[in-house]
Amino acid sequence: MYRPKDSSRSPRFTGPRTFMRLEHIQTTEDVDFAVIGVPFDTAASNRTGQRYGPQHIRNFSVLLRPYNPDQDINIFDYCSGIDYGDVDVVPGNIHATYDNIVSGLEPVLNKEIIPIMMGGDHSISLGHLRAFAKKYGPIALVHFDSHGDTWDHYFGEKYMHGTPFRRAVEEGLVDVDHSIQIGMRGPLYGPEDIEDARELGYEVIPMKEVREIGYDRVMERIHTRVGEKPVFVSYDIDFLDPAYAPGTGTPEVGGPTSYEGLEYVRGLDGLDIKGFDLVEVLPTYDSGEITAVAASSIIFEMITLVAMKKRTELKLKELKI
Ligand code: MN
Ligand code: MN
Repeated sequence: MYRPKDSSRSPRFTGPRTFMRLEHIQTTEDVDFAVIGVPFDTAASNRTGQRYGPQHIRNFSVLLRPYNPDQDINIFDYCSGIDYGDVDVVPGNIHATYDNIVSGLEPVLNKEIIPIMMGGDHSISLGHLRAFAKKYGPIALVHFDSHGDTWDHYFGEKYMHGTPFRRAVEEGLVDVDHSIQIGMRGPLYGPEDIEDARELGYEVIPMKEVREIGYDRVMERIHTRVGEKPVFVSYDIDFLDPAYAPGTGTPEVGGPTSYEGLEYVRGLDGLDIKGFDLVEVLPTYDSGEITAVAASSIIFEMITLVAMKKRTELKLKELKI
C-alpha cells in the first residue's frame, strides 16, 4: 500500500519532490494509480518549455492533502498510488518518444493500473492513445481544451501538438462515436477548424455553448456521449482562462475559472475512466505558481475519481456477499 508522506509529521518542504509526496518507485505491484511525467515539448508550435511541466507540478503538489472534502473521500482509504517517474522522451524525435511512451505504459496498463500522465506538449496524447488502444481497443475520449487539436499539419509536419486528435482518428485509436471535446474558443483560421473535428466524428461543445447551456447540461452531454465505454480523459491546461493558468504555450482568453475547471473533473464520476493526461504546463510563463496550483489540483481531482471508483467497486462486492 503506497500513500503520501504524512506532512503533519514531516514538513512538506523536506525531501525530493515527487507528486503529492508519493513514493517514487517503478513497480506495478499493489498499485492502483501511477502519476507519470512525459517531459516532451519539441512538437509545440509556439512557446516551448513544457518539458519542465512535470517537475513544476510536482514542486507545488507537495501541498496536497489526502482528504477531498468536495467528494467526501480520503483517497488512500481506497487506493494505493505512486510517482512512477518520467517516460524516457527523446527531445526532437517524436516517433522515438511515441515508442517509449507505448513501451513505458505497457506494464502499467497490463496490470489495469490507472496512469495519470503529466505533459509535456499535447502531441504526447497520441502516444497515450496508442498505448490505451493496444490494451482496450478504440477508446472513448473526453477532451478539455481551448483548441480542438484536430489540425492536419503544421509547416508540413503531421505530428505536432495541434494534430494528435486527428491522427488518433486516422489510426483508429479512439471510439469517436463516444468522444467529445469541450471548451474550444479563440481566433481560428476558418470555420472549418471546428467543422473538421465534427466531420471526424467528435461531438464538440465550444466555450460559447458551454456558457449558454451551463455546467449541468455539459456534464449530461458528456455522460450521454461516453455511456458505459472505457474512456481516456485528456486535459489541456489552456482549457482554463489564462488568468487561472498563465503558464502555457497557446493561451486563449474567455475560459473557465480554476473552480469550474475542477468541477468538470469532479462531474466525470461514474465514467469508466482508464487513464488521464494533463498537458501544456509551461513553467517559464507561470507567475506565482498559479498554473502549478491549478494543474496539481486538477490531478488531485483525477486521483479522487480513481478512489471513488474503487469505493463503488468495494460496495458492490460487499452487497453481493
Ligand atoms: Mn491541446
Ligand atoms: Mn490548447
